[in-house]
Amino acid sequence: MKRCDRLKCPYCLKPNTNVLDSRHSSGAIRRRRQCNECSKRFTTYERVENTFSVIKKNGKIEFFDRQKILNGVLKACEKRPVTLEQVDNMLDHIEAELRDKHTTKIPSKVIGNLVIDKLKKLDGVAYMRFASVYRGFKSPAQFAKEVEKLKK
Ligand SMILES: [Zn+2]
Repeated sequence: MKRCDRLKCPYCLKPNTNVLDSRHSSGAIRRRRQCNECSKRFTTYERVENTFSVIKKNGKIEFFDRQKILNGVLKACEKRPVTLEQVDNMLDHIEAELRDKHTTKIPSKVIGNLVIDKLKKLDGVAYMRFASVYRGFKSPAQFAKEVEKLKK
């Protein structure tokens, strides 16, 4: 992850700070930092700029909403041995991949498939849950087909 570290310490104003940890919380990144000069600790919030939009199935365009995807994935991971860290990490990778596409409008299908792909490697059950909701499985046969694909 890129760390923008010319940030000035609010105490001694020296641009020499360390990131202790960072967390995502509803569209913002919260970073705990420590100044390398005076050793004081402080927290910053960085808002992630929406560099791309999502084209929905019905043709509507909306901003990419990480929280929405996070909620969907967390729901699929309920009671599974998957940590919030892992999901957060996965979303970081997905966002990075989307940014790499260098386009501002991305079909929701592309994003959904990225999530499904990554979830497959993380947890089979969570993956099935997410795929079934996302792809709108209507019969057990569709589950069976997906399980077959998973075995490969
Ligand atoms: Zn300082």
